[in-house]
Amino acid sequence: MKYVYSFSKKHVEGDRGMKELLGGKGANLAEMATLGLPVPPGFTCSTEACDAYYKVGKAKLSAAMKPEIDAALEQLEEVTGKTFGKGPNPLLLSVRSGAAVSMPGMMDTVLNLGLTPTTIKALIASSGDERFVLDSYRRFIQMFGNVVMGVDHHDFEHELDAVKKARRAKLDTDLTVDGLKDVIDRYLKVYKRATGKPFPTSPKEQLMAGIDAVFGSWNNPRAIRYRELNDIRGLLGTAVNVQTMVFGNSGPDSATGVAFTRDPSTGEHKYFYGEYLINAQGEDVVAGIRTPQQITLKGSREWAKSQGVSETDRKANYPSLEESMPKAFQELDRIRVRLEKHYKDMQDLEFTIENGELFILQTRNGKRTAQAAVKIATDLVKEKRIPEREAVLRIDPASLDQLLHPVFVKASEDAAQQIAIGLPASPGAATGQVVFTADEAEAWVAKGKQVILCRTETSPEDIGGMDAAAGVLTSRGGMTSHAAVVARQMGTCCVAGVADVNINYKTKRFTCGGVTVKEGDWISLNGSTGAVYKGQIETVEPGLTGPFGTIMKLADKYRKLGVRTNADTPHDTATAVKFGAEGIGLCRTEHMFFEGDRIVSFRRLILVAETVKKLREDCGIEDLTALQKAVGKDVKAVESIKQYKQALRELLPLQRKDFVGIFKALKGRPATIRLLDPPLHEFLPQDAAGQKEMAETMGVKPSEIKRLVESLHEFNPMLGHRGCRLGMTYPDVTAMQTRAVCEAAAAVKGSKPEIMIPLVGNVKELANQKEIVKRTIAEVEAKKGVKLSILIGTMIEVPRAAVTAGEIAEEAEFFSFGTNDLTQMGCGFSRDDAGKFLKDYVAMGIYEKDPFQVLDQAGVGKLVEMATVNGRKARKDLKVGICGEHGGEPSSVAFCHKVGLDYVSCSPYRVPIARLAAAQAAIRS
Ligand code: PEP
Ligand code: MG
Repeated sequence: MKYVYSFSKKHVEGDRGMKELLGGKGANLAEMATLGLPVPPGFTCSTEACDAYYKVGKAKLSAAMKPEIDAALEQLEEVTGKTFGKGPNPLLLSVRSGAAVSMPGMMDTVLNLGLTPTTIKALIASSGDERFVLDSYRRFIQMFGNVVMGVDHHDFEHELDAVKKARRAKLDTDLTVDGLKDVIDRYLKVYKRATGKPFPTSPKEQLMAGIDAVFGSWNNPRAIRYRELNDIRGLLGTAVNVQTMVFGNSGPDSATGVAFTRDPSTGEHKYFYGEYLINAQGEDVVAGIRTPQQITLKGSREWAKSQGVSETDRKANYPSLEESMPKAFQELDRIRVRLEKHYKDMQDLEFTIENGELFILQTRNGKRTAQAAVKIATDLVKEKRIPEREAVLRIDPASLDQLLHPVFVKASEDAAQQIAIGLPASPGAATGQVVFTADEAEAWVAKGKQVILCRTETSPEDIGGMDAAAGVLTSRGGMTSHAAVVARQMGTCCVAGVADVNINYKTKRFTCGGVTVKEGDWISLNGSTGAVYKGQIETVEPGLTGPFGTIMKLADKYRKLGVRTNADTPHDTATAVKFGAEGIGLCRTEHMFFEGDRIVSFRRLILVAETVKKLREDCGIEDLTALQKAVGKDVKAVESIKQYKQALRELLPLQRKDFVGIFKALKGRPATIRLLDPPLHEFLPQDAAGQKEMAETMGVKPSEIKRLVESLHEFNPMLGHRGCRLGMTYPDVTAMQTRAVCEAAAAVKGSKPEIMIPLVGNVKELANQKEIVKRTIAEVEAKKGVKLSILIGTMIEVPRAAVTAGEIAEEAEFFSFGTNDLTQMGCGFSRDDAGKFLKDYVAMGIYEKDPFQVLDQAGVGKLVEMATVNGRKARKDLKVGICGEHGGEPSSVAFCHKVGLDYVSCSPYRVPIARLAAAQAAIRS
């Protein structure tokens, strides 16, 4: 097997299409080399090599790979005119990870590899800059020691600080040659103490160990966590890019930086976005240790304004690249245009300027916020660079969630006390209690709190806390700092580099001007402006306007599936309509029974229902008034019937009012109203206080209520007396609910209700309930003198219903797949209990994803498909939808498109996601 692929001006073995094999970075380096861009030459060890590292072990892999590496090195020496491990012109290398999907900062990097006593001498002679060479060496010892050998980073930092203190050096750059020699001596000792071996002086040994370490870092805990959080799976491993070193730290005409061809936060392209540092190396820009400067003059001025830096101060201390190195800037700007044209997407570039000469170290499709993604995609369509369909495909449907995050109420924000301003690193508005560690953020959130994580800077270990927090504030670092990059991707609001904030981790507080903020105090962040406020600020929901609205319109143009919502209040309905819902696919009427005093009426009904049923059976009388007469002097029986009638009388207008509100909010869109579904005991008072209250209301003894509650207890309620089984035993509930729907429909012009019978497993259940519904409709029509057109259908959520869908469709005018229950009964996983082990099942790969979140297409999906086909065979115009949780999950939506459903229905906030996912499915098919 071939493991090593070279890239240089003379010889390129890869291209951008080879990401799986060469990783994103390696594939694009090869592509750029082919384009003739100034890429430092090198070679890539493939992801297949990483796979082999884990399968056959590093010794065997090294032996297999070594001849290829030797040959690639020889070639590299030839194109660079440098020699590895020897003077007069020694070749130094960088060793970097690069998987097919980028995982910023998660895996390891070693720079300056190849420095040994021999090459140090030669390099000092050739560069004439001893300080620079020694500085590179001390960085190399530290990186190699830490990354390859696992020596604690702090052990090195401790020595560096000691030397700086002894020599009164404030910054690393203040250290002289002698100071650096002292640091190096100490570093070598730290290394030997920790590893038991002297620092390697063979460059090949350094290289092979460096490559092994990068392969090893694929499975470090933070990389694993990152892949989990970002749902990255199915990759072989990381590739390793071995590249000729270029030095951004070789003097004042050298620099290193990161740039975006468009603003990754907003998608704007008013100018060239990016940051750089003069005389700096590798991670300095991203690490947030020094304040990075802007690439363009325009950007620099905007930055200075936002930071309160005067023009004189800016020019003297933070000039743009455009001002400080105009030639390199011009070339970089030309490359920016070229790369964006070539890739037809926003690029994220890393560059280094070595003694005035520009090198491009990396390009990739830049990570961006959802806001930027929609702006960039719609702009690229306007600029005629990509077609509409491509723009629709470019947006990750799940990321739209970020655009639905709240923003501050303007008046409340205006009235709030602003205490600082930082960089608007990731948009949105966040309000929460201050915590200072990622672990605390996770712990507080687990307790139901809302937090803002405040750090001087974040590191990859913090991602769990960043994910949990409502917002992140850092006191150091720029727009490309770890905090900024990671927060943007997560959709977490972030304000970075708030220089005025002084954090003291020990006392768990920060100061900012005259203000002190303690752990637990509330602050608010505006991630779109960088403003930091004291206290809580009210937030509002955003709308579908601007580029977001444009993408949604495009989605609607291409999608075939309808998109409805699951909503049971007028408020949720209105929200969903605003997000583009075309109707209600599931109105769960039971939720309406919980509001205010209604629960009392409903409890009253349930508690006497069994008695009334028995009386009817004993007397053979259905009509309640006649029944009451017939039982005559039996006071208890009469009381039960009265209570039953009272409850129905109380509930009817309440339900009707709810439906009126919903129909009004729908403005003529259809609404599928599901009749009562959950097990009755869920509504009953299980505690003594609740039972006492109910006893008082009904004028009976608490012991009587207790007895009734116990009599309704079920061992397996999810498979018990619920769904249409309730309507079968208590037909008055079906009739009351139907009456409420019909009367509301008669009251609101243009309303289009559909009545849905839940949990049907046998066509006879449906026929029975349908009969009651039809009779009730006719009664209301007669009474109100109206003609109502109401579809009657069923949920398909019991496997038996899916299997006998042909029969069921004879009675049903529509099907709606209740894939929550269908998954429960289809896979045999209790909805209430499976959470305990499903995570393990997913980790073990039994199911790729939790089947309650992502439709199990191979199993439950088969039931859906079969029922759809057989249902339509029986009834050609059968309308078919889905209303389980899967209706808003992109891959499940794609499945629904494939099997030809008419619509999906999901919670209001997932409506835009479903619209986009449906469009993507249509375009891809
Ligand atoms: C379902 O089972 O998928 C469904 C939508 O109903 P519920 O979740 O209310 O049981
Ligand atoms: Mg259900």
